[in-house]
Amino acid sequence: MEDCIFCKIARGEIPGSKVLETDKIVAFNDIHPVAPVHVLIVPKEHISTFMDLQENKMDILGEMYRAAQKIAREKGIAEKGFRVTVNVNPDGGQLIFHLHMHVFGGRKLTDAMG
Ligand code: AMP
Ligand code: ZN
Repeated sequence: MEDCIFCKIARGEIPGSKVLETDKIVAFNDIHPVAPVHVLIVPKEHISTFMDLQENKMDILGEMYRAAQKIAREKGIAEKGFRVTVNVNPDGGQLIFHLHMHVFGGRKLTDAMG
């Protein structure tokens, strides 16, 4: 999508700090981290929200969770623990309407919002 910030990052048009990339997803550091590790994983394809995932696109979730495992190991938070979150629509706290998964860790997470 032309004006979508996460599409632009996925296309490499905005210099973000990419952490991991496959042919289907890209992961980069959150610009306003709320924990020592705060990485966002997005599909390269523009999908607005979790609820817009059609049945034939569900495989992307597996790819995103796989990336979360790799990132957790690489960042050294796999053993101590971390959190994977998908915010959905305004009441779920979604501000950017391109599906993304947050990976938070590196400190003790105390409440539901991290
Ligand atoms: P959400 O509230 O789930 O939609 O999360 C959006 C996240 O995107 C927030 O944690 C923002 O800090 C983050 N964010 C917004 N713009 C950028 C950007 N240009 N690069 C990296 N992260 C961003
Ligand atoms: Zn997008």
